[in-house]
Amino acid sequence: MTLGFRLVDGAMGTELIKRGLVLGTPSSLWNLQRPEDIQSVHRSYHEAGSQAITTNTFGANQMQLALHGMESQLDEINIAAIANVKSAALGATILGDIGPTGEMLEPYGDLEPDDLKKAVYRQGKVLAEGGVSAFLVETFSDPEELCITIDTLLAFGLPILATFAFEQAGSEVRTAWGTTPEDAALRAVGAGATATGANCGTELSLSAYASLARQMRSVIPDAPLVLQPNAGSPQLGPDGMSYSRDAEEFASWAREVLTLGEMILGGCCGTTPLHIRQMSQTLAQESNS
Ligand SMILES: [Zn+2]
Repeated sequence: MTLGFRLVDGAMGTELIKRGLVLGTPSSLWNLQRPEDIQSVHRSYHEAGSQAITTNTFGANQMQLALHGMESQLDEINIAAIANVKSAALGATILGDIGPTGEMLEPYGDLEPDDLKKAVYRQGKVLAEGGVSAFLVETFSDPEELCITIDTLLAFGLPILATFAFEQAGSEVRTAWGTTPEDAALRAVGAGATATGANCGTELSLSAYASLARQMRSVIPDAPLVLQPNAGSPQLGPDGMSYSRDAEEFASWAREVLTLGEMILGGCCGTTPLHIRQMSQTLAQESNS
C-alpha cells in the first residue's frame, strides 16, 4: 500500500520545552491550554515540508492521563489535538499518535491484555472519529504490547504505521525487550501494520539507523519503512538541553536510506523544522534525479 506521503514531522516534546513546557507536565494537556503553541509547532513542520503531521496525543491514553488525574478529559484532549493540526496545517495528512500505556503486560507487570485493548480502543475511536487518516503507533519496546495495540486499531480500518524504539546493545541494536530489528518488523507487519520502522532510541547513531533499516528491509521487502531518529542524545548545558546532530547530517543520512526502498522519514527528540526542511530538499533532489 502506498500511503501518499514520504516526509512526516519532527519532534513535538522538545519543541514544546523551548516554548516553556515544564518536564513532568503532560504535553497533551497543551492541546487545550496552549493551542497556539501546539499549532505553531505543527505549522512550522508543515511549512518545512512535512506532508503528514502527527497529533500531539502520544501520552493521551487512559493510563497516562490517569496518572495526572485527567482521564475524564481524554476525549476532549484528543479532539482538540486533531483540531490543532487541522487549523495549522491545512492539507496535511493527519497521523493519530498513540504511544505505549507506560504499563507492562502480565506476567512482567500488572497490565492485562483486555485492559490494554480497552485503552487503545478508547483513544483510537476518538482519533478515528475525529478524522485522522492513519495511526502512528510509536516508541514501543515490547513487541507483544505493540501487536495487541495494532490488532485493536485494525477495527477502525485505517493504515497503521508502527515503530519501535531501539537501543545499542553491544555491537547490536535491540529494543529494551531484546527484540531484533528483523523480529520487530516481522511482528509488526504480521499483526497488520501497513508500515513499520523505528523512532527515537537510545545512543543510536544515524549509521545504526541505516543498518537497522537494512535489517528490517531484509525480512519485509515490500512494506514502507518509517524512520524517525532523534538528533543525538540530549546534553544538559547552561542553556538547557541541546542535541548535537544537525540538519545536514540528517540530509545525507536520508540520501543513504532512500536507496533501501519505500521510506517514510521524519525525526524524534531534538529534531526541528530545520531537520525536516533539509530532508525535504533531499527528497526533492531524489525525485528529480
Ligand atoms: Zn524521541
